Amino acid sequence: MMNKEIIDKNKTILEKEREVIENMLSDFADENKDGSGDWDTRYPDFRAKGNLEEEADEVEEYTSLLPVEKALEEKLANIKEALKKIESGSYGKCESCEKEIEARRLKLIPETRVCNRCK
Ligand SMILES: [Zn+2]
Repeated sequence: MMNKEIIDKNKTILEKEREVIENMLSDFADENKDGSGDWDTRYPDFRAKGNLEEEADEVEEYTSLLPVEKALEEKLANIKEALKKIESGSYGKCESCEKEIEARRLKLIPETRVCNRCK
């Protein structure tokens, strides 16, 4: 059985991280309403502008945000999955080999899905 102390601690960490990441994402993206956990970076709204240079800058910013959105979205999905596993009592089990994930690894990466051997 996974150490309860680690689980309790990681639950607190994961809940905080979930909030931080949702806040970061909502600064520049909108969550899909379909419940899939996907986020979409908001495309710049040009209707009121007409300044080409400014528009180019905004498109550049949009493009640069896409990989950030993807990375945050992935981390958020892993965090939500880990929290679900804590609820169901299956937290700390490697998704690949089904053995227990090393405590050290869980402390470093609370949302990890696999152990050190399978990473
Ligand atoms: Zn494994």
